[in-house]
Amino acid sequence: MEILHDNAVDQSVLNGKTIAVIGYGAQGRAQALNMRDSGVNVIIGIRPGKSFDSATEDGFEVMDVASAAAKADIIHMLLPDETHQEVYEKEIKANLKPGKTLSCSHGFNFVFGFIAPPEGVDVVMVAPKGPGTEVRKVFVQGFGVPGLVAVKQDASGKAWDTVLAMAKTEGLTRGGVLKCTMEQETYEDLFGEQNVLCGGLVDLMKYGFETLVEAGYPPEMAYFECVHETKLIVDLIYEGGIQKMNAVISNTAEWGEYVNGPRIITPDVKARMKESLADIESGKFAREWIAEARNGAPTLKRKREELGAHEVEITGAKIRSLFETK
Ligand code: NDP
Ligand code: MG
Repeated sequence: MEILHDNAVDQSVLNGKTIAVIGYGAQGRAQALNMRDSGVNVIIGIRPGKSFDSATEDGFEVMDVASAAAKADIIHMLLPDETHQEVYEKEIKANLKPGKTLSCSHGFNFVFGFIAPPEGVDVVMVAPKGPGTEVRKVFVQGFGVPGLVAVKQDASGKAWDTVLAMAKTEGLTRGGVLKCTMEQETYEDLFGEQNVLCGGLVDLMKYGFETLVEAGYPPEMAYFECVHETKLIVDLIYEGGIQKMNAVISNTAEWGEYVNGPRIITPDVKARMKESLADIESGKFAREWIAEARNGAPTLKRKREELGAHEVEITGAKIRSLFETK
């Protein structure tokens, strides 16, 4: 894949343009501050509340979503994905005149057809590969997290110039930016988070914890072994890959990894991952999640409560308190 850096991108295409950042949460705040520090004219569109106050405190021109969309050349939607469609229909659509750019940081709503932008507008994505706090912190340090950019609709013939300039002013080309399609970003992002990073990992840790506790071992020790120490392992892999991690752990641990890992994560796990990928690509997962969200998310709320009552979380709170400086 082609990786682009600062020198390959001209940010002057944003001169004289106004970018409305819609939403001022984790990503909205970080991306808006970075772009403003890079000289871009940024305004914020947001409903009244905590985010509105926070954007005002940070010195932005803040207004309701419809007014910001009307004023802007580039409308950058950084709302929770399950709210995009409604906000788009009610407040953005009527203000999306030909020649404007509609932008996002996750292609979900465009890829699955919840938003169908009119002809005559550019539709782009600039997705930092990191949480908002990191996007801002690394930028302030003088560097940038890497990112992905995509163009879904290129009405002007200049959509790539626009999205790359946005990535540059957010600091992402300092780290390096990869060109992809919105479909690739959306499917891969959903697959990774629900099979490995969030789903997958959480269930692996819970099974490990439960196995030890059900065998009569103290929950506090089970928590250390199966949950708490994942951070040490992941940090090593982040730094230097799996071999670096293996070089640091004991030979006994490494031997156990080779002989027991494949006994736990068997090829049928991979077969189910392939089913999960098919559900993501077909839109089945997206339709079910949006239906749940529109219904007030009752199952999501019940799952949160069940997790809060699980012994692994209660033990975790106790363990973390041991690390607090009194
Ligand atoms: P957050 O939940 O942190 O922020 C959401 C923002 O939207 C808040 O300012 C919230 O304001 C506002 N908001 C919520 N509902 C509405 C509404 N109905 N009308 C107007 N404003 C509303 O979200 P993130 O920043 O995490 O995510 C934003 C986008 O960035 C998503 O598309 C996500 O997929 C993408 N993304 C996220 C990454 C991450 O690591 N988190 C990484 C890359 C992309 P209020 O305070 O009023 O609730
Ligand atoms: Mg992701």
